[in-house]
Amino acid sequence: MKIIPIPYGRQELSNDDKNAVMEVLNSEFLTQGPLVPRFEQKIADYCEVKSVVVCNSATSALHIACLALGVSKGDNVWTSPISFVASANCALYCGANIDFVDIDPLTLNMSADKLEEKLRVAKKIDNLPKVVIPVHMAGQSCDMEKIYNLSREYGFKVIEDASHAIGGKYKDISVGSCKYSDITVFSFHPVKIITTGEGGAVTTNQENLAKLMRQYRSHGITSAPNEMSPTSDEEIWNYQQIGLGYNYRMTDIQAALGLSQIKKLDKFVEKRQLIANKYDDLLKKLPLAVPYCHPNSYSTYHLYVVRLNLKKISKSQKEVHNSLRQLGININLHYIPIYLQPYYKQLGFNRGYCVEAESYYREALTLPIYPGLSENQQQFVVNTLHQILS
Ligand SMILES: *Cc1c(COP(=O)(O)O)cnc(C)c1O
Repeated sequence: MKIIPIPYGRQELSNDDKNAVMEVLNSEFLTQGPLVPRFEQKIADYCEVKSVVVCNSATSALHIACLALGVSKGDNVWTSPISFVASANCALYCGANIDFVDIDPLTLNMSADKLEEKLRVAKKIDNLPKVVIPVHMAGQSCDMEKIYNLSREYGFKVIEDASHAIGGKYKDISVGSCKYSDITVFSFHPVKIITTGEGGAVTTNQENLAKLMRQYRSHGITSAPNEMSPTSDEEIWNYQQIGLGYNYRMTDIQAALGLSQIKKLDKFVEKRQLIANKYDDLLKKLPLAVPYCHPNSYSTYHLYVVRLNLKKISKSQKEVHNSLRQLGININLHYIPIYLQPYYKQLGFNRGYCVEAESYYREALTLPIYPGLSENQQQFVVNTLHQILS
């Protein structure tokens, strides 16, 4: 029998989800039908935010968010080094400069204190960022109130990369409400909290930004009469291209899956919380640190990251990683600091740039966590870790 390894994350699909997709396949519209706006409204209701624009990925959502905020050549964008590369690439798509603010070693999020220090220095040399992109690492919200206050003081805009964090809360408010930001981005990739296959969304309370992002999502085209240039009465103008946009649209097939998945969002997060709490308990005696939970945040536990206490372990991080993989546990690492990627290194970043991010990178491992992880599987992960680390 072939042993299927336990992944670090995976989708949770029910028959309802599959039926919802089949229904679209039998309907009139595969794309640009009624389900996309319906899914957008559902997300808006869930997050208590005014506008939602869904896209074909969080990567494209980050891109149109930057474009809507006017990010262009010569602008500075700052993000966290401990994230997926998409959090930084969006700035480069716009021709802007990217820079990184080191993490808080406890929350693994961009440190708001280090952000403040960096802003103070940048102000002196007139090199402030136009946009800062905090990332809610593993599903735990950043210190958004402090970041928001800094944005007012230093005059930058805020995009929350909440790819990990739909269903999470900050100070009892849903992530995505944009109470402390201009735009929030979600991902619906299968390893994330809910899925549409591929997919993403932006949320905002600013109607002008929503309008721009809708245009950027679909070729820069509008069919709203009040947005079109005046035309002669004899000609047919049922739409106009008024900017340069992309095809970043979500299909109705994806939206149907999203509508079905979002019904279960709270249950998924509760299940992830249960699994995480159990790990916390079962891993207590091992030479590693379990995730730190900030009291202001209700985490979605997209990831369950432990930090090895390498002084107390005879094996290296890589040996632990490889041993677990050999035994059928597809352990992962989230993330290699973005600026250490070869592409970023040739932009001029060097080792040692963000000290906390790099020491985290040398100790971190992501254990499997997803709603369908069974008790037996979790126990197997825990037993195997005990075996390898003792
Ligand atoms: C997954 C992820 C993205 C990209 O999401 P896609 O939907 O795959 O484009 C961006 N940022 C972070 C932090 C992510 O984890």
